[in-house]
Amino acid sequence: MDEQYKPGTRLLRAGRPHRGWVNTPVTRASTFIYENVQQWRDTRARREKERLLSYGARGTDSTHALEDALVELEGGYRAKAYPTGQAAIAVVLLAYLKSGDHVLITDAVYEPVRRFCAEQLSRWGIAFSYYQPDGSDLADQIRPNTRMIYAECPGSLVYEMMDLPAVADLARRHDCWLAVDNTWGSGLLYRPLALGADISVCAATKYLGGHADVMMGTVVTNERAWAPLERATVDMGQTVGADDAYLVLRGLRSMPARLAMHERHALRVAEWLQSRPEVARVLCPALPDHPGHALWERDCTGTNGLLSIEFARGIQDADVERMIDAFRLFGLGASWGGFESLCVPAYMTRARTVADWSGRGAVLRLHIGLEDPEDLIADLDQAMAALKR
Ligand SMILES: *Cc1c(COP(=O)(O)O)cnc(C)c1O
Repeated sequence: MDEQYKPGTRLLRAGRPHRGWVNTPVTRASTFIYENVQQWRDTRARREKERLLSYGARGTDSTHALEDALVELEGGYRAKAYPTGQAAIAVVLLAYLKSGDHVLITDAVYEPVRRFCAEQLSRWGIAFSYYQPDGSDLADQIRPNTRMIYAECPGSLVYEMMDLPAVADLARRHDCWLAVDNTWGSGLLYRPLALGADISVCAATKYLGGHADVMMGTVVTNERAWAPLERATVDMGQTVGADDAYLVLRGLRSMPARLAMHERHALRVAEWLQSRPEVARVLCPALPDHPGHALWERDCTGTNGLLSIEFARGIQDADVERMIDAFRLFGLGASWGGFESLCVPAYMTRARTVADWSGRGAVLRLHIGLEDPEDLIADLDQAMAALKR
């Protein structure tokens, strides 16, 4: 019914009550009381296929409203929410893979996923290996038992792009699932499912929540990929509380406005950084000198608050660490996507095992928040003085 509207309008309308309150009331719930035995039996028979109220862990009005908005956001078939982004990734890997299978993981992957593979997948007898962040060696890396290509596009820390429609073709030819971590794009800037992926994962902790006050992960799939995810999610007891679902749904309403502002501020800060002799390169796919710029232009509708600085040769990690300690506005902390500016050192030679970062400069990742960009520039300017030994 909402097909006639543009994505921004549809996102504001999705997951809302059909009449009455603007927002879906928060339903904190475990037990659902049935009318009678017939309804109880009937619900239990149908709940695998249909979305019904039957028990808190399987969904409440609050989580169903969030799921509807997520499906609208990512353009998929159905959605599920998880306590963290990492939990969503863990369920995705375990839902589609079994002992004896092999999964190809991007070398640009969010770091904790590497540990999950090494510590957990290996215990389940699932083999994994890493491919180049731009996907250039994927065709050569596929094995007879490869059942999933796991991508992250743009990649963590330096935002490598890959040709996702081409990777989707390759995956289909080899009967592999294509799962994409879409935290960077958050469904507004990038839509993996529309580009051919089967599964899109998002750390809603970042831009969907948007206020650094909630943890959540989301997964949206196409129709083909839905059943294994639904099964694994129920079997692993994965769900989210109604209050958290409400917070993410509330964050979603202002996400287009926030992202537009993050983009404007980040591009202003990037422009200033590019004029500095300490900076070899500002890494952001929206900038024409980024290696993934052409793909970004083709597949993304904008950029966000993330920028990484590659420093000039001669500036060492220890110098960058002094700069971090000198910041007054940029906080040193994990995660991003809240309203505030953050930084974190990116030790790239350790963060990549296939891509070669030797000979490149030290890297600092910035999240440009909603503060006035001129204040952020002044903070960067004063903190850069600490780079000098
Ligand atoms: C933060 C992040 C995650 C994990 O999200 P959490 O909610 O912190 O577990 C996953 N993928 C990417 C790309 C992230 O940046």
